[in-house]
Amino acid sequence: MPGYVIDPPAVNAAPIKGTDELFPVRRVYCIGRNYAAHAIEMGHDPNREPPFFFQKNPDNIDFSGEFPYPSQTKDVHHEIELVVALSKGGVNIAIGKALDHVWGYGIGLDMTRRDLQGIAKDMGRPWEIGKAFERSAPMGALVPASQIGHPSSGKVELKVNGKVRQTGDMNQMIWKVPEMISYLSDYFELKAGDIIMTGTPSGVAAVVPGDVMEASVEGVGVLTVRVT
Ligand code: MN
Repeated sequence: MPGYVIDPPAVNAAPIKGTDELFPVRRVYCIGRNYAAHAIEMGHDPNREPPFFFQKNPDNIDFSGEFPYPSQTKDVHHEIELVVALSKGGVNIAIGKALDHVWGYGIGLDMTRRDLQGIAKDMGRPWEIGKAFERSAPMGALVPASQIGHPSSGKVELKVNGKVRQTGDMNQMIWKVPEMISYLSDYFELKAGDIIMTGTPSGVAAVVPGDVMEASVEGVGVLTVRVT
């Protein structure tokens, strides 16, 4: 049997709350502008135009509870998001069947080099430089849907140093979780291990080293991340 010419990269995997089991991550899909108030604060019309997605890399997800301030930026923003973890994939998944594909949920931060993303937007360039950098997706332990069900409403809140910065409710999502899964599956073959970051409510703002971000999603949990 042929061997690898270099060591194969490690699989990044999420801890599962209350167990020593792991959820291996395959792909990370992120939706843009999925809460109307956030679309408005970023200068866009929140009308229900087709959703759009970008990706982070699986190894950008970080479970350490620390976010090292990244290079080449002076404006790093927090975006708290409900995370969806898929237990099975498929193509052309019907909206009514989409939740059957969900293993569980978590809390993630779509950390964004806003200055670099802004330059990319202005120049019509891809967003990776602003979105898909090292450790750009701090995330907490996942919880199975078999325990908490499928949250579709409830508070989403991010505090920095104890002060509320972002607040919203999952019922304000323009595109709901089943719709996102169905839409993505029309364009990509989804598979077990895929993660979807479901967009952020308004109030995104900058962090600096020393800040402590406390992210909570009602019914899912709390994630605390220190900027180092
Ligand atoms: Mn986001």
